[in-house]
Amino acid sequence: MTTDCWVDVAVQTPAHSAVGGLLTYRCVQTVQAGHLVRVPLGRKQLLGVVWSVNKQPPQALKADAVRDVLEVLDAVVPLSTNWRQLVEFGARYYQRAIGEVALTALPPALRALDRTALARRLRRHAADATPGPLQALAGPALTPEQAQVLQALGQHSGVHLLFGNTGSGKTEVYLRAVADRLAADPLAQALVMVPEINLTPQLEARVRERFGHEAVVSMHSGLTPAQRLRCWLAAHAGQARIVLGTRMAVFASLPRLRLIVVDEEHDPSYKQQEGARYSARDLAVYRGRLDGALVLLGSATPSLESWYLSRPASEGGRYHRLHMPSRIGAARLPTVRRVDMNHQPRRTLLSAPVLQALQERVSRGEQSMLLLNRRGYAPVLHCGDCGWKSECRHCSAFRVFHKTDRTLRCHHCGATERVPQVCPSCGNADIAPLGRGTEQLEEHLGELLAGVRRADGTGVRIARIDADTTRLKGSLETQLAQVHAGEVDVLVGTQMIAKGHDFRRVTLVVAVNPDTALFSSDFRAAERLFALLMQAAGRAGRDAALAHPSEMLVQTFHPSHPLFEALKRHDYPSFAQHALSERALAQLPPLMHQALLRADARSQEVAQTFLREVQACLNVTDDSEGSSVQIYPPVPMSLQRVANVERAQMLLESTSRSALQQMLAGAQTHMLALRQQPAHRGIVRWLVDVDPQTI
Ligand code: ADP
Ligand code: ZN
Ligand code: ZN
Repeated sequence: MTTDCWVDVAVQTPAHSAVGGLLTYRCVQTVQAGHLVRVPLGRKQLLGVVWSVNKQPPQALKADAVRDVLEVLDAVVPLSTNWRQLVEFGARYYQRAIGEVALTALPPALRALDRTALARRLRRHAADATPGPLQALAGPALTPEQAQVLQALGQHSGVHLLFGNTGSGKTEVYLRAVADRLAADPLAQALVMVPEINLTPQLEARVRERFGHEAVVSMHSGLTPAQRLRCWLAAHAGQARIVLGTRMAVFASLPRLRLIVVDEEHDPSYKQQEGARYSARDLAVYRGRLDGALVLLGSATPSLESWYLSRPASEGGRYHRLHMPSRIGAARLPTVRRVDMNHQPRRTLLSAPVLQALQERVSRGEQSMLLLNRRGYAPVLHCGDCGWKSECRHCSAFRVFHKTDRTLRCHHCGATERVPQVCPSCGNADIAPLGRGTEQLEEHLGELLAGVRRADGTGVRIARIDADTTRLKGSLETQLAQVHAGEVDVLVGTQMIAKGHDFRRVTLVVAVNPDTALFSSDFRAAERLFALLMQAAGRAGRDAALAHPSEMLVQTFHPSHPLFEALKRHDYPSFAQHALSERALAQLPPLMHQALLRADARSQEVAQTFLREVQACLNVTDDSEGSSVQIYPPVPMSLQRVANVERAQMLLESTSRSALQQMLAGAQTHMLALRQQPAHRGIVRWLVDVDPQTI
């Protein structure tokens, strides 16, 4: 008698290949859904996850055409039904194959281990397994606001939005919420997500200090494959009680998940920008419901999506909104002053009030931060004679001038070359930078502050933090540590310096040139700018003991813009109300749901034709079902060409998520079929972006 069964297995196959779904194999060993297996595909051997087990051979396939599972990695307990459901939902919602989502959620090192090697590794880890009650160290006495929030978390299940000012002690609330859940259940687990872990090394240190090293594992792309495997296995086995990670951690296998925290929930980096373009925040909400876990989204400037969803229940809100308006320890939020650049000499980079404020801080031994969201020396190099500009040959973008190594670099395709001596077009020797980046700001500051002395008579110490200065592993940590240690007087940087850091001695924050985002074609630009400036403002005045009040200076040509008015009052709710009413008028998210179909090809014509034909197919089903999805004609993307590939997109909109989902599923089928036609051979790739961050 045989114990044969047939299993559907999720394996990673190339995107858009014909075998996008699950593959069927025969298995002669005992196997359960959720088991990891090794299976043959063509001449390769792949890691797979058993999705379902059937006692009957598949009808459609000839039984002898079905290949055998090579081995069951049964040392690893099967992945749970909930985990598989999360993956299935993610794949369906973001229009990708189950296999792709499942396999990218597993640590890559698993693929290289066979049954024996894996079993050996697990035995090694079993030694340090100590599930049981977790002893958390006591934290500080809670403020009344913190206590109230924690009490509410204990009383209501579901999704909570913690709207708490910068410095109001949200992190302490997260830690306490974790401690409460873990104390209540000796096996419970918690997931804490942060946007970018290397920007918040302090948080990791705080979590480990509070709960002990063994209880906590991290999950992010900075880990080595071996570390990632060890952390994944510890979470999967329930040994790790707390997983701290970036967006990828939302797929961690956590058999007894009771709490999910999403810190800085508004941060765009929660949205994956390649492959399955999932939003880890949105999946966290889904997962919380699935696992019956409490979900806590936290921010000083919530996304308009979450803000809208947390409106009063009587108006249809679904999240529970909690508010912590006060800063800890009587620390005050900085005074926001707008510097009207219309009254400054033309082409002023740093205005007189800013310079004066900087000098005061230096002489008092306090720190200042200058925010300029553009790296490099100048965004473009320009010839005044013939009008030549440093365009990228491969992209519809300019190459950025980097003075330190005298290169022109494209920030989209990476193409780099040395700065030409003379204008490549007319030979003029006088080519000049146009616009300003952080490199130039740093240089300029050095000149402006050259004569300024610190209290001990030494010169001003200026540092810059951006993607260029932090390329090497560990360099960001070193630079941040220098700021914390007080070895820097003036810090220049991009949005990297605005996020989350608890800099104690910063009393001045300057937004050097925030105006560009006010008039962007991207409807989310203002929301992002407001969040960035509020975050940046939150870096100042965190220490109430510093004698002088802290300040934020905003250099702008539009001082009366409502965004700056709201910033001045530190008034997120009024900003949000204004922005939401605009979104309602313009029929934009969160009151509308969007998806993009994108096609890339050698020519714009080919890309758009493909999308037009997809649209033609969709309109047919549209009529027959009377669904409410609006499809806009294909257009070139705002960054039309990258690395010699032309990009076009088509926007789909609906007030109904399910109508949109249905249409997208149909679109997938059409695109697969169209792609096979000779007419569309020029298509390089196509993709679907559900709830896109930028249009
Ligand atoms: P947020 O995350 O809201 O910006 P943090 O959690 O970083 O704020 O808190 C700001 C500062 O206040 C931190 O230095 C933190 O250690 C401290 N803090 C938080 N809660 C308390 C408390 N209850 N008592 C004393 N200090 C606290
Ligand atoms: Zn020229
Ligand atoms: Zn380029």
